[in-house]
Amino acid sequence: MVTMLQDLVEFYEKLDQALQPSKQICGTCGECCIKASMLRIYPLELENIKRYVNNESSLKKFVDFANNVVVKIWGNVEGQCPFQTGLLCSIYPVRPYFCRIYGHYDYQGKNLLDGCVYRGHATVYTKKEELPLLYELEELSDAFASRQELVTLK
Ligand code: SF4
Ligand code: SF4
Repeated sequence: MVTMLQDLVEFYEKLDQALQPSKQICGTCGECCIKASMLRIYPLELENIKRYVNNESSLKKFVDFANNVVVKIWGNVEGQCPFQTGLLCSIYPVRPYFCRIYGHYDYQGKNLLDGCVYRGHATVYTKKEELPLLYELEELSDAFASRQELVTLK
């Protein structure tokens, strides 16, 4: 387990490096943590966050278990992410993949908020295969899921 979480940390470092050239300065906007209607998170990422916050009640607020593959943090309604403190992310070092790529990539070119500094700069995508390094995260996530199944069977 620890190795897998370390792999995830290294994955995030690689992803952040890959996103560096398209980075814009957000200032203290914080709107995407309030108005985005759905954020996907993989179970391995959730485990990583769980260890970081070590607080079941805030995790419960964070998680709407859609199924065992991905978790929709806010379900299907708009709402503020419970890990936003003021305008900032209180779990920034362990924030999930989709928080990291927000702004850099824009689904169908229609999903960035009005006033977002990334508008006009984002890479438009239509399929998840076009997202940076997502296949690597999915491989890690699959390995984590297999391991969880083995633990459950024991
Ligand atoms: S995890 Fe952090 S970056 Fe992601 S939506 Fe919540 S507050 Fe924002
Ligand atoms: S990515 Fe856009 S919406 Fe989110 S904090 Fe930055 S400027 Fe605001």
